[in-house]
Amino acid sequence: MRSASEYISRRAHGVDASGIRKVFDLAAKMKNPINLSIGLPDFDVPELAKTVAIESIRRGDNRYTQTQGIAPLRERLRKDLSAEMGRDVGEVLITSGVSGGLFLAILATIDPGDEAIFLDPYFVMYKHLLTMAGGKPVVVDSYPDFRFRAERVEKAITPRTKFLILNSPSNPTGVVMTAAEVRDAVEVARKHGLLIISDEIYEPFLYERVQGSGFGVQGLPSPAKSYENTLILRGFSKSHAMTGWRLGYAAGPEAIVSQMTKLQQYTYVCAPSPLQYGALAALDIPMGDSVDAYRRKRDLVFERLSRKFELVKPEGAFYIFPKAPTGHTASEFVAKAIENNVLVIPGNVFSERDTHLRISYATTDEKLARGCEILCSLV
Ligand code: PMP
Repeated sequence: MRSASEYISRRAHGVDASGIRKVFDLAAKMKNPINLSIGLPDFDVPELAKTVAIESIRRGDNRYTQTQGIAPLRERLRKDLSAEMGRDVGEVLITSGVSGGLFLAILATIDPGDEAIFLDPYFVMYKHLLTMAGGKPVVVDSYPDFRFRAERVEKAITPRTKFLILNSPSNPTGVVMTAAEVRDAVEVARKHGLLIISDEIYEPFLYERVQGSGFGVQGLPSPAKSYENTLILRGFSKSHAMTGWRLGYAAGPEAIVSQMTKLQQYTYVCAPSPLQYGALAALDIPMGDSVDAYRRKRDLVFERLSRKFELVKPEGAFYIFPKAPTGHTASEFVAKAIENNVLVIPGNVFSERDTHLRISYATTDEKLARGCEILCSLV
């Protein structure tokens, strides 16, 4: 008889999750840790959104929706996004989280051997989803300041390059692309005929005015404002603390979104039905107080950690990415932090380098202050 492990595909073996597994193995031994590793907001879903979702279940909205999602939500998102971008953004598909949108976008565009470029450090899923689809992830180093540099990106382009993934505000660095950087990215994409996949899941979490963009007036500098071959990916996981609701959306060229819809039909089928009504209600709930709370947390963490660590001030999202102290790899330093009851993630989970730490500040001020104190004491 074959052993069960013999059934495993090369595809599954091709995904290496050993880095994060090591961290979780170490973390499993911790008792009541100061957990600065979690990538989700520490506030709960707004009450009104919960109520609407519950009413929706009671009313009987418990069946499949149309593959592309419920019409009022799609129409509202298309209207809002088009107003924000200053042009019609195209079709909208409601996805099972931004993860679902990413997966479908990759399946719809990547043939085996096709390449996709993104900056290092990166959100882990990009690399693994591309690998699963038979594509080739191509990373472009953005150390030490994590800014977008067109000349570095241009060097990585080959005839097989299909798209460029931008992630601003960024997980894990918190960096927000300036309007000028977005313009450079669009120029490169236009020149080389690349699609841009713009992962804007942290869009509400913007803490600074970026030169030439004017946050609060024009919002996030997005390639979708000036480049039609942009696929926007956004979601409700971070903006409304709905990570477990699995709701995101993709907006962009009809030719691409319709293929993603077809593929959704045979994979996810549709995003959760009653929760789509809850998400629609959530769009009218002001979330400014939460963003202000995170700005204060960002200030607290930045101020404390910059006493001992080399770091870039994050402008958005809820992560900070300091450099491990000299003489330590990030993994070594994280092991030390874990011994001292603070859980953070080593940069090599998000990067080809093992030099930095990802700290999530989406937690209570008390835990943050204590966590920073311990981390600084270990330097
Ligand atoms: N993109 C980025 C940059 C993320 O950090 C995350 C979640 N950590 C996702 C996409 C996926 O989020 P979800 O599937 O919950 O919408």
